[in-house]
Amino acid sequence: MDEVSDQAPAHTLPARELIESESDVSFRIGKRFSFDAAHHLVGLRAGHKCARPHGHTYTVEVVLAGEELVGPGFVTDFGDLKPLGEYIDGHLDHRDLNEVLDFPPTSERLAQHLAEWFVENVEPNIDGRLVAIRVSETPATWAEFAVGERPAS
Ligand SMILES: [Zn+2]
Repeated sequence: MDEVSDQAPAHTLPARELIESESDVSFRIGKRFSFDAAHHLVGLRAGHKCARPHGHTYTVEVVLAGEELVGPGFVTDFGDLKPLGEYIDGHLDHRDLNEVLDFPPTSERLAQHLAEWFVENVEPNIDGRLVAIRVSETPATWAEFAVGERPAS
């Protein structure tokens, strides 16, 4: 018997078969963008500090999933996410969010807005699908808009 063939190749670990037997296997990737902007929130209790105009260095994290990898082994090429960065830079960076958005600029609503923009403008041109967008105003906080499963396009 050929000595090589009765041994699994070094790159196929024993756990692989077990892992791949799961029906809901998927890979996830994330990319982080950031921008600086001002905002204030209305409808808060008197004296709430967020009612006053102030600024944040926002972080936007986009999370994508894919059941199958493409190319050398990508969910999608990170470079293909560039349009989201361009949208953020062009429309949100160094802006007053109350002026440029037509909804109260909380992190939650901002995450939803960016998810909608991404699904409409980026997702049709990439592999993988959007799972969530997470927006942070500070390093200690985040708000996430999770996107449900959609039929493959
Ligand atoms: Zn704020």
